[in-house]
Amino acid sequence: MNKNRLSLREAVAYTRRGFAIWCKAAPEVLVSAAAVRAVNALAPYLPLWFTARLVNAIAGGEPGAAWPMLAGLLISTAVMGAVRAAASAWDGTMMDGRLYTVWNRIHFEKLLSMDFCDVDNPKTQALLTQILQNNNWSGWGLINIYGLFADLVEAVMRIAGAVALSVSLFTLPVPPGSPLVWLNSPLCLGGMGLALVISVALSGALFNRARRYWSEYDGTQGNRGFSYFYFIAMRERERAADIRTYAQDKFLEDAGRQDMGSETSFGPGSTIGRQARGPMGALCAAAGAVSQGFVGAIYLFAGLKALGGAFGVGSVAQYVGALAGLAQGFTDLLAVWSVLRSNAEYLKPVYEFLDTPNKMYQGSLTTEKRNDRRYEIEFRDVSFQYPGTGTWALRHVNMKFDVGERLAVVGENGSGKTTFIKLLCRLYDPTEGEILLNGIDIRKYRYDNYLALFSVVFQDFKLLSQPLGQNVAAAEDYDRTRAEECLRKAGFGQRLAELPKGLDTCLYREFEDDGVEVSGGEAQKIALARVLYQDAPFIVLDEPTAALDPEAEAEVYTKFNDIVEDKTAIYISHRLSSCRFCDEIAVFDHGQVVQQGNHDALVEAEGKYQALWEAQAQYYAKKGSEELEDGIL
Ligand code: ADP
Repeated sequence: MNKNRLSLREAVAYTRRGFAIWCKAAPEVLVSAAAVRAVNALAPYLPLWFTARLVNAIAGGEPGAAWPMLAGLLISTAVMGAVRAAASAWDGTMMDGRLYTVWNRIHFEKLLSMDFCDVDNPKTQALLTQILQNNNWSGWGLINIYGLFADLVEAVMRIAGAVALSVSLFTLPVPPGSPLVWLNSPLCLGGMGLALVISVALSGALFNRARRYWSEYDGTQGNRGFSYFYFIAMRERERAADIRTYAQDKFLEDAGRQDMGSETSFGPGSTIGRQARGPMGALCAAAGAVSQGFVGAIYLFAGLKALGGAFGVGSVAQYVGALAGLAQGFTDLLAVWSVLRSNAEYLKPVYEFLDTPNKMYQGSLTTEKRNDRRYEIEFRDVSFQYPGTGTWALRHVNMKFDVGERLAVVGENGSGKTTFIKLLCRLYDPTEGEILLNGIDIRKYRYDNYLALFSVVFQDFKLLSQPLGQNVAAAEDYDRTRAEECLRKAGFGQRLAELPKGLDTCLYREFEDDGVEVSGGEAQKIALARVLYQDAPFIVLDEPTAALDPEAEAEVYTKFNDIVEDKTAIYISHRLSSCRFCDEIAVFDHGQVVQQGNHDALVEAEGKYQALWEAQAQYYAKKGSEELEDGIL
């Protein structure tokens, strides 16, 4: 982390920006931290004050004055203890509940508002992984700004309280005539000041040097191993069956132990482990010794002044406590400073991520909500290269289709089918050529407006661990009749009727013990219902029936016209039999549309389609030619 270290000014600027982010996103968290830390810092001083008065009264032979002080001591200790405990419980809730939710939201909102090509970019993903890892490691990044602020407030309040309680140590003089009157000399005051400065500076420097071992230590690899072996691989539900079948638990534990024993981990055998037992530990010990040396000096000075008659013996405890607090406050300030410098380095990837610009042009035209739902899409000589690659994923694609048509996109893996869909849905813009909606370049439409024209089921779609109905509607409040209707159309009607809680059945078991585990095919039907509920003029289905059994697949296809109604349906499929009912089939090969037409014409013509058809017919030959004829492959 030490390469291109930020200058002091940059580190402060980075931290100020982080602070501004928190002020905007969650000011209440900062207010809470400030209040709690102020209480924490000031709490020990009140009992200290009463203790001093109490001992003075006892030592001065004034039991009458001692009682109120004793009462004050008891009450202040109890009240401050209670307030501190309540405040830290409150802060803990704010910390866990709000802080991390807001932290997530800051990153998540950026990710959602980014151009899709940047989300898809491995660089962005690497940046995000780095941010997450730094945060997991020790809250490095934005979370530490909260910690820095809280520590700063506590240090300042501790210093303020200490100054208030220790001023009289220097202002109350040893009465004239005492042999210790020389303690009133300004030199003594200067000497104590110097001791304070030396103690704080020296212990701070030693402590910082010790801390540098951490900030210079690149624990990314160790952290990655730790998260993978102990959290991801061991705990992910999807892996549970594999882990049991192959008895991977032992294997993973060994691998994890090996990782923790490696040089780059955090275990006792790691570099940082050895440093903690060696130089880092020695530096921390020396820092502690210096601070305690200063406490000894205060004892000496305050004790001698009390002996000289400047104040009662009880005040010694007050001054020692206050000045030790003062030294601690300054040491904490230095620690804040050093963490601020280290943390600023971890803010670099955060800002790089948050500052990713939106480069996609966003027009202002609205996609008129046409009552006749007439939309025409045209690909005009469209070519596309994925960013950072020199190869054409699509080349000179020309195609036109109207709402109401059924278009199938077929071709071998890697032929450009998904890329075609991504361009259609404007997840990417073409590198060359243009895509037109009703004759106008799609870039000229409002982005959200244009996206709303499409409902897509991607092959790797995901459902949420939430009630079935909410999954279908993608909303908490929804039209139940419509959701049921869509599920029925998608072929989920019978299963729905069997569910005692119907639409309120929770999918999966993350939140409800009686949640249902749906099969891949059922999930696909629910995803299909979700598309229907959206009621967009274009539906795009990427292998819509891949997880369905042949019977269910046949059922979906038979009812397809009912399902899709007057919308345009675009299917990506490598099962040619499932495309036969489409008006138009576009055959992709090496990024180009090599053939276009209906099934009957294409299967007759010599070319890619016929070759694919025959290859698949051969593959399924065992299943019998009638099945093939029926289209239930
Ligand atoms: P299909 O859907 O027909 O299997 P794709 O459209 O996914 O094909 O891929 C077309 C070509 O683009 C392939 O050569 C593939 O390797 C490449 N490609 C796909 N996605 C990306 C990506 N995100 N970055 C770089 N290249 C990609």
